[in-house]
Amino acid sequence: MPPIILDGRSVAKQIRAELRERISMLSSERAHAPTLGVLQVAGDAASDRYVRAIRKMCEEAGAGFVGTILAANASQSQIEEATAALSARPDVDGVLLQMPLPVGIDSAAVITYIDPRKDVDGVTPQSAGLLMLGQPGLRPNTPAGGMELLRRYQVALKGIHAVVIGRSAIVGRPMALLLLHEHATVTIAHSRTPDLAATVRSADLVVAAVGRPGIITADMLKPGAVVVDFGINVLADGSMVGDVAVEAAEVAGAITPVPGGTGPMTNAMLLQNLVRAAGG
Ligand code: NDP
Repeated sequence: MPPIILDGRSVAKQIRAELRERISMLSSERAHAPTLGVLQVAGDAASDRYVRAIRKMCEEAGAGFVGTILAANASQSQIEEATAALSARPDVDGVLLQMPLPVGIDSAAVITYIDPRKDVDGVTPQSAGLLMLGQPGLRPNTPAGGMELLRRYQVALKGIHAVVIGRSAIVGRPMALLLLHEHATVTIAHSRTPDLAATVRSADLVVAAVGRPGIITADMLKPGAVVVDFGINVLADGSMVGDVAVEAAEVAGAITPVPGGTGPMTNAMLLQNLVRAAGG
């Protein structure tokens, strides 16, 4: 039986439409529309593309957008001051610090200048602490998007064995915590996991957050397993693939496509966090 395709593109579109209505209501109740402030350091083409896409999404949803671009050679203190200034603006409800920052800049130090109430990317230590404690807060967008996709497709999580491959602070680790909060039994695998295949084979839900094309192969999956692929890998021919080999879809019960799975959900969750930060 072919797997259920967890269609992030269409779910994200639906979420953006829902948020558009809430943004419209919030805009009429408040002095300004929910507004996203993005701080970017010049010199990264991929960041330019991403910020343009975010701006377009905000405009289409009726949200405000304020962009601050610093010179490519901006110093640590200049980036910190600009982050603090953007965070302090009363007309800005959410702050996104566009990564990566230039080599030599201490990103973790810059992040501490984001007002946690405006942390729409869920990257501050406060947001991470709330997630760890299981208390309400602004969650990192990529794992939140994966969870929302599972929720909308009514994938039962209670008591299942979820294996998350990858333990970064923005994808793997928060995803593992979010699954734990939904009562999954969670295993986190990483580069030092001795037998990745055996670990993955025991999973009802496989979450790939590695960044290596095809690292999860069909023979590693339990038949019928649900697969969430966060991997974004651009091949030499320019095509984009995930961490899960395409043949794995023949074994999976449900799977996120790449592209069109978790990626569009990430942006929709950013908009959702903006609405929350604006009080909606
Ligand atoms: P990181 O490089 O920060 O983390 C990768 C993780 O994979 C690490 O924990 C690493 O282990 C683990 N890993 C590396 N090699 C292996 C291996 N051979 N076996 C098992 N685990 C391994 O990446 P990110 O978390 O930032 O991103 C992961 C992927 O998600 C990337 O493809 C990225 O492009 C994508 N991404 C997708 C988004 C989306 O919207 N869908 C948004 C953000 C990222 P260790 O900790 O031991 O080094």
